[in-house]
Amino acid sequence: MKTKIGLSLEQKDEKYLWHSMKPYNPDSTMIIEKADGSWLTDINGKRYLDAMSGLWCVNVGYGREEIAKAAYNQLINNNYTPLSMSHPSAILLSEKISNLLGDDYVVFFSNSGSEANETAFKIARQYFQQKGESNRYKFISRYRAYHGNSMGALAATGQADRKYRYEPLAPGFLHVKAPDQYRYPEDSQNPIDLPSVKAIDEVMTWEHPETIAAVILEPIITGGGVIMPPDNYLQGVEQICKHHGALLIVDEVICGFGRTGKAFGHQNYGIKPDIVTMAKGLTSAYMPLSATAVRREIYEAFMNQGNYDFFRHVNTFGGSPAACAVSLKNLEIMENEDLYTRSEEMGAILLKELQHKLKNYPNIGDIRGKGLLIGIELVSNLETKQPIDVSIINDIIAHCKNNGLIIGKNGVTVAGYNNVITLSPPLNITIEEKDFIITNLIQAIKSILGGQ
Ligand code: PMP
Repeated sequence: MKTKIGLSLEQKDEKYLWHSMKPYNPDSTMIIEKADGSWLTDINGKRYLDAMSGLWCVNVGYGREEIAKAAYNQLINNNYTPLSMSHPSAILLSEKISNLLGDDYVVFFSNSGSEANETAFKIARQYFQQKGESNRYKFISRYRAYHGNSMGALAATGQADRKYRYEPLAPGFLHVKAPDQYRYPEDSQNPIDLPSVKAIDEVMTWEHPETIAAVILEPIITGGGVIMPPDNYLQGVEQICKHHGALLIVDEVICGFGRTGKAFGHQNYGIKPDIVTMAKGLTSAYMPLSATAVRREIYEAFMNQGNYDFFRHVNTFGGSPAACAVSLKNLEIMENEDLYTRSEEMGAILLKELQHKLKNYPNIGDIRGKGLLIGIELVSNLETKQPIDVSIINDIIAHCKNNGLIIGKNGVTVAGYNNVITLSPPLNITIEEKDFIITNLIQAIKSILGGQ
């Protein structure tokens, strides 16, 4: 309705703004005016604890003045330098990322997780071309994983419901079954004997190993439903890749920067990927920035190319000075406040308490996670593990939201597997905030599902 002073903010939101995934809905769209610590405040003054850190990204919490100042100081000093030139913040940040990876990596900057993955695919293909192995162009990823919204990153994504409207996507992407310790537990002393590792080996064999450029995977599948692999799975994949001469790309867009209790998720599993992609927690979402880190040997393979053919890939805003300065300050906070350890410890407490307090409730199939990345899988039948109807998950989310708690819903909509409640709060949540999450979630589950 038009008033004398024009449209209200809600009306303008409805009229002009195209929201991710869903249309404007007066009952569920939140217009956030202020954010501080782990809390959001909407335009009506209602406060919510954000137990999803936005889209799994605000790792150091909202409203950090020191990060805002770092952005200001950089913008006022030098707001832009393309990375065909160079600037101090990008140099120092690339060194920092290499150090956090604990090995010798060279870093290419972009603006989003999708772009970081696209960059990784192009680097992998050109790397093999230059080695005279131009047949190596195929990528293997896993069903249920998400790797981004662009034509290559979406092709790598293993969730049909996100893809089918936009096909044909980039060719050359193959998928294998993801390891899932809840639905298909597997165990083997020898990692290459794990069925889900063998599945990769088999695809490589049948496709001809010399056509495979790389495997791309997240250490733990996040958006697909916090799907945990066996502890030695990543080592098995690393061995198979090495054996067949393919690269291993690890997507750390969500798992990185403390989410799973370490600088990078793969560091929980003792592997050294060839390429690592990262975004989100790299800046805690204070600025858009992503990175593709490659092992030095791969970078050096590009060296014998002329300047123009070195890597024919440009990103206007990637590694902009303010984004890099923000990232440096963000990573300094992570270190000063020891948020890696804090995530590991607080995550373990939260997980244990949830497992204990929810154990007698109906429909709780599995409660799992690492660090402050936690998934609660709801099923309609504990024996068959039939996923619970998504409407029930939606009711739990709505109940929590009503009481001032934002939680996540993840999985894949194909065959109704959108049945995992996710918790990924900022890494510096307090004990009281942790208790607020547990109390409210249990109240919602009790009211929707019943139980003691
Ligand atoms: N990889 C993973 C694992 C992700 O979760 C996401 C985004 N949720 C992406 C890549 C793509 O990141 P972006 O949305 O920044 O393009």
